[in-house]
Amino acid sequence: MSTVKTGQVTIPRKHKEGMFEIRLESIGGLGANVAGKIMAEAGVLGMGLNGSNFSSYGSEKKGAPVKAHIRLCDSETPIRTNSPVENPHILAIFHEALIKTVPVLQGVGPESTVLLNTTKTTTQARELLKLHGGYIGCIDALNIAIEEKSRVNIPMLGAICKASGFFNADALRDAIKHVFGKKYPQTVAGNLKAFERGYDEIKTEYFAPDDRYPYQPFVRNPSRLGYLNQPIGGVVVSAGITRQKDLSPSRTGFIPVLDLETCTHCGECDYACPDYCFVWEKGLSKTGKEAIFLKGIDYNYCKGCLQCVWICKPKAISIGKESDYNVDEITVPLSFRK
Ligand code: SF4
Ligand code: SF4
Repeated sequence: MSTVKTGQVTIPRKHKEGMFEIRLESIGGLGANVAGKIMAEAGVLGMGLNGSNFSSYGSEKKGAPVKAHIRLCDSETPIRTNSPVENPHILAIFHEALIKTVPVLQGVGPESTVLLNTTKTTTQARELLKLHGGYIGCIDALNIAIEEKSRVNIPMLGAICKASGFFNADALRDAIKHVFGKKYPQTVAGNLKAFERGYDEIKTEYFAPDDRYPYQPFVRNPSRLGYLNQPIGGVVVSAGITRQKDLSPSRTGFIPVLDLETCTHCGECDYACPDYCFVWEKGLSKTGKEAIFLKGIDYNYCKGCLQCVWICKPKAISIGKESDYNVDEITVPLSFRK
């Protein structure tokens, strides 16, 4: 790993404790936790800074809101704060759906930069966010992730690198290689490309505060839950899901797209799917034997985890961008919904 010696990095903006702070607002599965680790590793091991990171999420693993908090400062500055980032210099929102369900903008001031994964322009994004004022950066990270076979986190990382004004891109590249190289070496090239594209394609604009939207201070909400009344672990309390056909809190923007021409009806996807989305029907094989054939996917139950994509050996299922499809039209309903 290349090393930049202490004192060679100038952090342009700091809180009075001497720290540059980043908050990632994400949905489980988009990789915010890994992105936080990569930034801290790049800052500490690659740039000679002092740093810390942690994430907060429930036991659901995928589909529920996730926050990641990163602090970086000069190596001589001690980090004594281990609480969530309240006033981020950079706020990166990994999915637009969070704007409706989570108070993502809390603590974001005119000095902050808000980075949003979206196809919208910066002006449209400001209206969507109802942002008091400050810098907004828009990046279509979902599209980059699909095209480069990475996840949303890596193009967002490229965008954060550029917006920070001090991150050493080589240190981040090294950390990406280190984090993915051991377990998933085949993904390194795609991730590095996704990082470059995030860096190059982010479009940022400054909006002066004009009193149209109020500043949203950070509010500490002491938990009303203790060991006597906390919900059972693994419960997604903000599930949108089927009755309202609102999968936004759980689906992350991806859907599996099935190609029945390539499908061998092996059934592996059915074993892998945690939500029984695959619809099967009895029929006759070419030799006249009775068999079960795959008919399609009931997207009403699909959370976009993409386990079926990874398991399908003949590559009959590919990754699609949810917004490119009319999910109602391509859904094959499970028999009890007909
Ligand atoms: S795993 Fe792939 S080939 Fe097998 S049934 Fe599912 S879609 Fe078809
Ligand atoms: S992405 Fe595939 S495995 Fe995941 S819930 Fe949807 S159909 Fe099931």
